[in-house]
Amino acid sequence: MSDLAALLQQALDEVAASDTLAALAEVRVRWLGKKGRFTEQLKALGALPASDRPAAGARINEAKQQFVETIDAAQASLERAAIEVELSAGRIDVSLPGRRPGEGTVHPVTRARLRIESIFTQSGFEVATGPEIEDEFHNFEALNIPADHPARAMHDTFYFPDGRLLRTHTSPVQIRELRKGRLPLAMIMPGRVYRCDYDMTHTPMFHQVEGLVVDENVSFAHLKATLQGFLQAFFERDLQMRLRPSYFPFTEPSAEVDMSCVFCDGQGCRVCKHTGWLEVAGCGMVHPNVFAAAGLDAERWTGYAFGMGIERLAMLRYGVNDLRLFFDSDLRFLRQFGAA
Ligand SMILES: [Zn+2]
Repeated sequence: MSDLAALLQQALDEVAASDTLAALAEVRVRWLGKKGRFTEQLKALGALPASDRPAAGARINEAKQQFVETIDAAQASLERAAIEVELSAGRIDVSLPGRRPGEGTVHPVTRARLRIESIFTQSGFEVATGPEIEDEFHNFEALNIPADHPARAMHDTFYFPDGRLLRTHTSPVQIRELRKGRLPLAMIMPGRVYRCDYDMTHTPMFHQVEGLVVDENVSFAHLKATLQGFLQAFFERDLQMRLRPSYFPFTEPSAEVDMSCVFCDGQGCRVCKHTGWLEVAGCGMVHPNVFAAAGLDAERWTGYAFGMGIERLAMLRYGVNDLRLFFDSDLRFLRQFGAA
């Protein structure tokens, strides 16, 4: 009966090699079924002499019993594992924090614009907007820039086939507001403008804010005080400001506005090219031809206007050194700016 020990070892090896419940069921049938190998061993007892049968039967039953215990234990273990897999697949850890929707931040250009609007509206200015697709009259002619004017070439205008254009500045909103004839007025007009230009300091689309104050007896002194007050509020510091004579077709006289460098306090640094000054705006007194184009009496009404680049102000305020960063949609950059 040394065969029995080998037989049992083979049965136990098959159990050990079964890693699924289905495989185990097959092993069980193969050894314990009606034609199973242990069953056959018991049937073969009939061929033995009667005196040998009890002892042989006991050894077979002992081996069979050992097999049954082993295969039952293996089955229980596989069933437990199957339940574990099922449970963990549907497991919900209620103590984990929920998945929140990604939180956006205010774009730095928008943030600067909101800040500009807040400062001016606190001083009694209204905020006006106009269309980004304009015509030559509002964008050029009414602003004292006739067709043959050299300033047109400087504007690098995007034209549509029908002669309309993407506005090159926010100044056409001045014309639209003046033509409404509701005077006196004090307004800022922020918005997108477009020029065919692209490098480190120019993008085809950028933002300007235009300011316009029209009343009787408006003077250059009012303009200077307004701009200085705005710059000090925007940069939250005491600033020097200076005006340099300049030329714009729609204002006369005209000036460029410089403020003392916010990075070196006027001592001179790389940002201000060691001059101590940063150019931040253009301004002037509204040209009589602009009043005339808007149907207003230039003898009665006086006004000042100014224009600033919002990106330029945002760059200086937030210390951004490349204009294009504002438009690259790089979240690593944008996430540095929290809510307004
Ligand atoms: Zn500087």
